[in-house]
Amino acid sequence: MPKMKAVAKTKPASGAEIIEINTPTPGPDEVLAKVLATSICGTDLHIFEWNEWAQSRIKQLPLIMGHELCGEIVDVGKNVKNLKKGDIISAETHIACGHCYLCHTGSAHICIHGRIFGVDINGVFADYAVVPANNAWVLDKKIPKDYASVMEPLGNAVHTVLAGEITGNNVLVTGCGPIGLMSIAVSRICGATQIFATEVNDFRLQLAKKAGADLVLNPKKEKIVPRILDNTDGLGVDVVLEMSGNPTAIREAFQVLRPGGRYSILGIPDKPMEIDLGNDIVFKYATVQGINGRLMFSTWHKTTRFLSSGRLNLEPIITHRFSLDEYEKGMELMKSGDCGKILLYP
Ligand SMILES: [Zn+2]
Ligand SMILES: [Zn+2]
Repeated sequence: MPKMKAVAKTKPASGAEIIEINTPTPGPDEVLAKVLATSICGTDLHIFEWNEWAQSRIKQLPLIMGHELCGEIVDVGKNVKNLKKGDIISAETHIACGHCYLCHTGSAHICIHGRIFGVDINGVFADYAVVPANNAWVLDKKIPKDYASVMEPLGNAVHTVLAGEITGNNVLVTGCGPIGLMSIAVSRICGATQIFATEVNDFRLQLAKKAGADLVLNPKKEKIVPRILDNTDGLGVDVVLEMSGNPTAIREAFQVLRPGGRYSILGIPDKPMEIDLGNDIVFKYATVQGINGRLMFSTWHKTTRFLSSGRLNLEPIITHRFSLDEYEKGMELMKSGDCGKILLYP
């Protein structure tokens, strides 16, 4: 096999570098995909910057970064029956063991032995990537090819939005990074009534409008709680979709959640934080749920249907397309927040 280029984390410090290594060979239950496109996730930025989370979570270097994939299958392991050369695939990035209690009971996405692409094993910021056949998702032909790369984060949004009632509900999305923006777009087509969005970056607030938010609010410029209460007859929103990981945003969102409302959390705070459990959850009779990954694979089926129907428009959310060699430019842009989703092409 010839050599290939990859963006790898080689040292336990900030940054990454382009390395040249042998193109991997797929095992009996794996496929080899030529990477047509990939995209930058918040996780990749954490690993790139080597923050506290990355330092404690990453066990082995060098590590090829990246997990969001649009690939074309070029080689198939001998046990693989359902995939063939030429298939365009996306990939579920949670690699489940298939044998534990959670895998056996329909929760493979939180498998006790789960591993993650580009975190625990080599990822897809490369010319080629090995993908376990069970994790490959063949792209519906009606969907634009490079959308395969954003199906994984889009699946996070779909999973969060559909984790409870949404139709006819007033919704607050806190944090308008790519998954927040996708959550707005998905809530819109699922029949949410009023959609509020909060975000400190004005560029992203504009994107939130384009994605379908009715009222966008910048907490640096105005008070969020009275604005949302004013617009919901003092009741508050039925649903909060937390995408920011910001402690102030998280607490304020509890203040505007109506009694009996749903609060679904995908955002991850940097460190442990305090909330008023009695007032915000118990007396409020709130349903609070953590969201991790995507249901394997019902979320993938739903995400495919949303995209192939043509009703879900990702174009306002994909703001930049760079070559993979320009990954540093993409990381800088992600850090500044002046972007939606960034696609990279090897
Ligand atoms: Zn991701
Ligand atoms: Zn398992």
